[in-house]
Amino acid sequence: MSCHRPESTPVASPAATGRDYNSLVVMQPRAPAVTPKEMKNGAPVKANNVAPQGLYLPNYNILTPHMRSPEYVQMSTAAAITLGVVQGKMYRCSCTRCLNLLLTYPEGCRANCAYCGLARHREAQRDYADRNFIRVDWPAVPLDTVIDIVARDAAASPFHRMCISMITHPRSDQDTVSVLKRWTERIDPSAIPVSILSNPTTMTRADVERLHALGADIFTVALDAATPEIFDRTRGKGVQSPHTWAKYWEILMDARDVFGPQKFGAHIIIGMGETEQQALTLVQRLVDLGGHSHMFCFFPEKGSLMDHLPATPRDQWRRVQLGRYLIDYRGVRVEQISFDGEGRVLDFGIPKAEVESVIDEGIAFRTSGCPGKFREDVSACDRPYGDSPPSNIASFPFQPDKSDLRKIRRQLRLVEHRD
Ligand code: SF4
Repeated sequence: MSCHRPESTPVASPAATGRDYNSLVVMQPRAPAVTPKEMKNGAPVKANNVAPQGLYLPNYNILTPHMRSPEYVQMSTAAAITLGVVQGKMYRCSCTRCLNLLLTYPEGCRANCAYCGLARHREAQRDYADRNFIRVDWPAVPLDTVIDIVARDAAASPFHRMCISMITHPRSDQDTVSVLKRWTERIDPSAIPVSILSNPTTMTRADVERLHALGADIFTVALDAATPEIFDRTRGKGVQSPHTWAKYWEILMDARDVFGPQKFGAHIIIGMGETEQQALTLVQRLVDLGGHSHMFCFFPEKGSLMDHLPATPRDQWRRVQLGRYLIDYRGVRVEQISFDGEGRVLDFGIPKAEVESVIDEGIAFRTSGCPGKFREDVSACDRPYGDSPPSNIASFPFQPDKSDLRKIRRQLRLVEHRD
């Protein structure tokens, strides 16, 4: 098994879109279709009620077993390979440093985010545990099996962090607590710190406080959209999904109060219609609040309501990646950065030699997320090929080498895009 799908979805080019960035006009999701009643809420899985037998590998040709958290969790193929429950190799990576545990239920996520492979509208086509998410399959594994393996020698584990990924489901809050308790009973959170990828829609401040009291280290909110308009269009009313920008910010501010500086963050997907200036203004806002941004390059997930749209042009992505790193870790402020009339970065406002040295170091182009054990600006959550195919890597899950850096420099187009 490989941790990536051999896809060749083209990255947007000016020829395809008329622009060299993913504009708001272009990035319009499809409307979700109506789901037949007999396919709603995981009805086929519950009706068949097949008992799970340990590891489940997504398979569209057999009946999906009836699996539920907290007894079962799903994990990325990369995490399953690193844990040793799935055989396989990853292109240019020996392992992933983050064990992401995704809650799972036959009913699946009840939200309908337009870019997401787990979204509710897919229930007519595919059982929840069989859906692709950030370009890969997510095997399901009994939680006890996961904990048994890691607890054998947590200090020597390849994982630098564990992350409980919530979904929108009535049991998600209490099952997150159960997974966290079961984990920390056997594994010292100082050996492998725990992050929470939250679902603000169902949460209260008391939930945030509880997770912190139980030993969670970092709390993140997947804003995903960089502006309220894009949020509403891609994961709110625009696609019959329950999320609101206001509720996400309410829980983000609770996380700031409860978890404290450098211990909270927000996910942002680049290339869903925001300008570079809007994205970097949000990055600055998060830094000013004491938090971090974790970035994803938009990729048209197969089966999602945005699978007909272009992946983010690499020049747009690279400039935002570099700008985000400079703001998050090098003290640059968004006010120093100059933008053109379409909100594209013209100049980072610091000496060219300084920009060159950050590019040469390469860390700015690695996957961003919660830190691991190497250094503060290197994410444990490396998500191999979660936002691009290996043939044109967006977020590098490893240190880019000289040839990667040559390609990155070409992609940045810091001067040419002004023409
Ligand atoms: S809430 Fe998260 S898992 Fe659910 S559809 Fe939205 S992005 Fe996907």
